Amino acid sequence: MDSFNTLDDLNIGKKSVVVRVDLNVPVVNGKISDSTRIERIAPTIWEITKYGGKAVLLSHFGRPDGKVTPDLSLEFIVNDLARICNREVIFVDTDWIDVSGAKKSIADAPAGSVILMQNTRFHPGETSNDKDLAARMAQLGELYVNDAFSSAHRAHSSTEAIAHLLPNAAGLSMQKELSALTKGLGNPKKPLIALVGGAKVSTKIDLLENLLAKVDALVIGGGMANTFLFAAGLGVGNSLCEKDLAPTAIRIMDRAVDEQCSIILPVDAMVAFKFEANAPHRLYGVDAIDPMGMILDVGPMSIQRIKAAIDDAGTLLWNGPLGAFELSPFDRGTVEVARHAAERTKHGNLVSIAGGGDTVAALAHAGVKDQFTYVSTAGGAFLEWMEGKTLPGVAALRALPG
Ligand code: AMP
Repeated sequence: MDSFNTLDDLNIGKKSVVVRVDLNVPVVNGKISDSTRIERIAPTIWEITKYGGKAVLLSHFGRPDGKVTPDLSLEFIVNDLARICNREVIFVDTDWIDVSGAKKSIADAPAGSVILMQNTRFHPGETSNDKDLAARMAQLGELYVNDAFSSAHRAHSSTEAIAHLLPNAAGLSMQKELSALTKGLGNPKKPLIALVGGAKVSTKIDLLENLLAKVDALVIGGGMANTFLFAAGLGVGNSLCEKDLAPTAIRIMDRAVDEQCSIILPVDAMVAFKFEANAPHRLYGVDAIDPMGMILDVGPMSIQRIKAAIDDAGTLLWNGPLGAFELSPFDRGTVEVARHAAERTKHGNLVSIAGGGDTVAALAHAGVKDQFTYVSTAGGAFLEWMEGKTLPGVAALRALPG
């Protein structure tokens, strides 16, 4: 995977470097509720500016649909960015049609400056990967660095087209993400086990199909396991279940046999009669689910089986919770398995890699988010990588050796 340049390969010195970052941070009541994305780009900014180079930051924010939308200006982030990176930050507004003013501001900025450009999605060309817009972006520096893995699944002007125009490299956070992911699927310590949970099979068919050919065992949990149980002829009562996808589930199970991949499905389940926290619940074997009940979590025997499968594994890939983890006590399966994987990781027995929006929240809920080998906060990009898809923002970095 290391066929891209890193910062060490670029002769940065006092040059201006256009850096694609992901500052699409979550905002609640006008305040940034999680600054992880800012924290992750700080090392790249320090590296670029340490000998007087200028870091010209490009990012999208929200969905302005190609129009200048003052409410979605990136200016609001300047203070937090400056505080976290411990650098003064110059904000440069632009409509991305004419960048001559921006070029002058960058040229006038002192050596070592951090310059934050206006929201790249204020121009419609960004999301259509417009080459002319990319050319204007490329005029803002002499080098290009992509440090936004979480935006790399999209071929946009600032992630893809621009990489063909300047000598380029992966930033430090992108490099770290790619090397962790290579450990997971590229060259994993075997046996490799994947744990896929979450609500629906329909959103994860590509994921399951890709994993079958690569992993030694596939644990299916969460609401999506119900579709597999139903396809195997078991009653699932009022549980979340995509009955029309039973043929898909059967095809996946048949292919697993051909690929010599063991599929591990729940053998028991926590069943409630309402979808709410602390709803009255009972444990059932999966062959005897109450017709009025809803499966909201895997049961203790299933948890033991999953833990034992993890004990046999060298590497674990995880996407999707094993149950409705937001509702106590239906978080138990997810929490116990997460803590077990964290423990195996701590003792050097397991490489554990997890990602995707709800998975990160579930691991944080279990208190082990920092105890996995790597947790990717890149939702869409992480899933597409797990699905075996080429990420245009990563592929473009390889296209042009610096
Ligand atoms: P996903 O975004 O596909 O990973 O799905 C995550 C969601 O799946 C979470 O909000 C969980 O509450 C939900 N989920 C997991 N297991 C179940 C289940 N057995 N029944 C209903 N929802 C579930």
